[in-house]
Amino acid sequence: MSFASLGLSDALVRAVAATGYTTPTPVQQQAVPAVLEGRDLMVAAQTGTGKTAGFALPVIERLFPNGESDGQRAKPKQVRVLVLTPTRELAAQVHDSIRAYATELPLKSACIFGGVGANPQMKAIAPGLDILVACPGRLLDLVGQKAVDLSQVEILVLDEADRMLDMGFVHDVKKVIAKLPAKRQNLLFSATFSKDIVDLANKLLDNPARIEV
Ligand code: AMP
Repeated sequence: MSFASLGLSDALVRAVAATGYTTPTPVQQQAVPAVLEGRDLMVAAQTGTGKTAGFALPVIERLFPNGESDGQRAKPKQVRVLVLTPTRELAAQVHDSIRAYATELPLKSACIFGGVGANPQMKAIAPGLDILVACPGRLLDLVGQKAVDLSQVEILVLDEADRMLDMGFVHDVKKVIAKLPAKRQNLLFSATFSKDIVDLANKLLDNPARIEV
């Protein structure tokens, strides 16, 4: 089993090899093809399983099919992919991974979280983005200030959804979801499938592929 055989194009396969990965982990083997098919996903996976690449690689592939990156590409005007994380540490980590996988692609991304000044984050968002990695509170602040437009989001990723609920972000997450277009792909990652997570999944996901590793 190789990354290329999962349906990822050369630009991503090379980036993954440069990162030092040789074989996809079990969650990557299952998640990558399902995301590429456009399916909603419900994944029970702990940190350390390779879950980040499990969503980041196929999401980038969907943004740049077959590594397409000609110079004519129009600038992204809105956020196309939104990744929500519970903590700033996780947001920064996920964003670093996305940057590492997109070295050969003209992917525009930013990472926003509270506890630091909003101005540099607003400047990073202003030109338009392919992927925004965000913690819910700061995201809602910037949406309220009209610094972020979520009306064109094609893919939503909820990373560590169980921690998001444990930390009391359920209302913020619901407010964010209410700003998104109804037609979109949803990927939910959680360490466990608790009752609260299953309830959220039932509301959020459309016929999801269910993956447990
Ligand atoms: P995660 O579960 O996404 O937090 O990833 C855990 C660690 O595994 C990170 O340090 C990744 O860089 C690493 N990793 C992810 N996928 C692979 C892979 N296919 N082979 C080796 N290491 C990997």
